[in-house]
Amino acid sequence: MTAEALPRFPLSAKVTALRGVGPVFAEALAGAGIETLRDLLWALPHRYVDRGSLQKIGDLGYRAEADREIATVLGTIQDVRQSTTRVQRMNLTEALLVDGTGGLRLIWFNQPHVARLLKAGDRVLAFGPLASGRHGLEMRGPAFELMGRGGDEENLWVRRYLPLYRKLGPVMGRTRQRLVQDALARAAGPEEWLPAELARDVPDTLAALRLLHQPPDDSDPALLEAHATPAHQRLASEELFAFALGVTLRRAGRMARRGQAVVTTPELRERLQAYLPFRLTGAQRQTFREIVADLTSGRVMHRLLQGDVGSGKTLVAFLAMAMVAETGGQAALLVPTEVLARQHAATVQRLLKQEAGRLQLLLGPMKAAEKRAALARIGSGEAGYIIGTHALFQESVTFSRLQLVVVDEQHRFGVRQREALKQKGLDPHWLVMSATPIPRSLALALFGDLEQSVLDELPPGRQPITTRLVDPAEAERAWAVVERELNAGHQAFIVSPAIDPQDEAKVPLRDIQAMEALLRAQFPDQAIAVVHGRLKPDAMAERMEAFVSGAARILLATTVIEVGVDVPNATVMVVDHAERFGLSQLHQLRGRVGRGSAPSHFLMLSGSETDRLRALVATQDGFRIAQKDLELRGPGEFFGTRQAGLPQFQAADLVRDRLLLVRCRAAAEQAVARGLSEAQLGWLRQEQARLKLAEIS
Ligand code: ADP
Ligand code: MG
Repeated sequence: MTAEALPRFPLSAKVTALRGVGPVFAEALAGAGIETLRDLLWALPHRYVDRGSLQKIGDLGYRAEADREIATVLGTIQDVRQSTTRVQRMNLTEALLVDGTGGLRLIWFNQPHVARLLKAGDRVLAFGPLASGRHGLEMRGPAFELMGRGGDEENLWVRRYLPLYRKLGPVMGRTRQRLVQDALARAAGPEEWLPAELARDVPDTLAALRLLHQPPDDSDPALLEAHATPAHQRLASEELFAFALGVTLRRAGRMARRGQAVVTTPELRERLQAYLPFRLTGAQRQTFREIVADLTSGRVMHRLLQGDVGSGKTLVAFLAMAMVAETGGQAALLVPTEVLARQHAATVQRLLKQEAGRLQLLLGPMKAAEKRAALARIGSGEAGYIIGTHALFQESVTFSRLQLVVVDEQHRFGVRQREALKQKGLDPHWLVMSATPIPRSLALALFGDLEQSVLDELPPGRQPITTRLVDPAEAERAWAVVERELNAGHQAFIVSPAIDPQDEAKVPLRDIQAMEALLRAQFPDQAIAVVHGRLKPDAMAERMEAFVSGAARILLATTVIEVGVDVPNATVMVVDHAERFGLSQLHQLRGRVGRGSAPSHFLMLSGSETDRLRALVATQDGFRIAQKDLELRGPGEFFGTRQAGLPQFQAADLVRDRLLLVRCRAAAEQAVARGLSEAQLGWLRQEQARLKLAEIS
C-alpha cells in the first residue's frame, strides 16, 4: 500500500477520518483531549525501548551475575495476587509474567494500585532491576507498560525502537500505535509558517512527527528521550513561535492604543522628592525613569517590575502612584492579602505625611457603613491612593479617574480580575510587581508582552543574613540564637508549616499549636503573637500590629507572612520543617529579615538536607534561586498555582527550551515588523485557541 493511494487530511481533521474510529471511540478520545489528528500526533512518546535490549525470560536465568541488572522483558501476565509481608507488614503485589521461554516474578512493595492495573492475559512490557529472591529470579518494582489485551504485536517488531506513550484515556499500546501510524500515513503536511531563521535546521512538521513516532533504526534513544533532536526542535519552535507571535501582536496592539498621558512638571518633581524618606538606589532611580517615560508617553504602560526580596520595589511603586495621584488621577494598589494591604497602607500613609488623607483602603470584609464611605471617596475622586485586595474588582466599585493599577505579587491574581476592570471600560496603566524574581524564560512566557524593569541593587547598609540548616535534634542551637537576638532588643519570626496536626504525613509534623507551646516554655518572658490563615481579619490585623509596633517580640506564623511583611527590627527567623517549603518560598521568607541595620539569621530546622535547602545556604541571589527552583520543580509548580496562566505546551518545555524561546521571541518581533502572511495568521488563530493563549495577560 503506497501513501499516495490514501486520501490526505489536514492535521486539523477530526480523528474520525482515521480507520476504525467511529463516533463512540471518537468520544472516548475527545474525553482524553484528542479531537484532531494534530492532537493525536503531538502527544509524543515519552520513552523508547530498544528492541535489541529486550530479553527473553528464559535467557535471564542463566545470568548468575544478574543481581540489580536492569532488564526489559515482554510477556503475558498469568497471575496477579496481593498479600501482606509477615515481617514489616508491607503490602506485596506479585505477578507472573511469561513469554515463550519462561516465567518471571514481578513484585511491588506498597503499591497496591498495581494490582488494579494488571489482569491475567495482559501483554506487558516490564523494565526493572533483577534480583534473586526466595523463588529464584525476580524483578523488583518494575516500571511497566500495558501493551494491550491479548492479540498480535508483530508490528511492534518492524522497527528497532518501540515508542511508549503516556496513557490516553482508554487507548492503549497496540491500538494507540495503529492510530498514530494511520494518522502519519494520511496527514497532509501543513504549509510552512515558521520564518526561515527558525525552519532552517529542522525537518518539516510531518517529517518531524514521523521521526519521533517511528524513529529510524539509527536514532539515538538518549537524544530522543532528552527531546534534543532537530525533530523536537521543529515542534517546540512551532509552539513557542506561535506563542511569541501572539504576545508580540498583543503588545503591538497595546502600543497602538492611546493611553492617559500624565504630565510632569517641576512642581510635581518637588512634591515627589518631598515624600522620599531616603535617597533612591541607582536601580530605583533608573526604574522610576522608565516608568515616568511610559506614563508620559501617551501609550498604555504594561510594565513588570522585578527585583529581589528587599530591593525596594514598594517605594518605586509608591512613586509611580504619586505621579498619578498628584496630578489629579487615581492610582490603585492591588495586593493578595489583607495583612499586606494594611501594611502597604501604613507605609504609604507614612510616606504621604500630612497628605495621608488622600489614601483609601478597600477590603472585602469591611463593615457596611465603612465600605459605603470608602466607595464614595473612591467614586468622588477624593481618594487618589487606593489600596485593596480583590475587593477592588467588584462591580460596586466605581473610580472617578483611575489611571494606574499597581499589582503586587502578580501571580496570585487571576486574569479574570484584570478582565473585570476592562469590563468597566477602564484602560489604566499597569505596573506589575513580582514577589520573587522570575527566571527569564518564565518571565518571557508569562509576561512577554510587558516591558521589564529590574531592581538589581539592594538599598545601602544591608546587613548580611546568615543562613543555616539546623538538625531538629540540635534545635537548642537555633533557640539560643533567637534568645540572643531577643536579648539584644530585636524581634523574631518563627514559621510553622501547618495549622493542624497532620496524621497522614510521613514525618510527624509539629503543628503551630505545638510550636506555640514550645515557644512559651522556651521564652516564658516574651510576648508572642500567633497568626495563621484561619484567623478572623480583625484578630489577624491586631496581632500583626502588635508585632509591627514591637509589643509582641516573637511572631509565630504560617506562611501568611511570606509576602511583603516589613519589620526591620526582626533579625532572626526560624522555619520549622523547612523541607516542606518551596525554594522560592523560603527565599521569600528569608527576605523578611535582614531589613534593618543589624546582621540577621535565617535558620531552617530540617532533618533532610535536600538540594533545595543546600541551594538556599549557598546563595542569597534571588534570581539564581528562582532559576534553580524552576529547574527542580518545573514551570507548573514554580508558582504553586494554576492561576499563573502558563501556556499549555505539548512539545515545548519552558525550562529545557528557554534559549529557543528567546530566539522565537526575536523571530516573532521581526515577523510582526515585516507583516504576517495569511498562512501565518490562520495558523496563529488555531494555535492560540489550542495553547489557550487568549487567557494570558
Ligand atoms: P521589596 O522589594 O521586597 O518589596 P521593600 O520595598 O519592602 O522591598 O523594601 C525593603 C526595605 O528597604 C524597606 O524597609 C524599605 O523601607 C527599605 N528601602 C527601600 N528603598 C530604600 C532606599 N533607597 N534606601 C534605603 N532603604 C530603602
Ligand atoms: Mg514588597
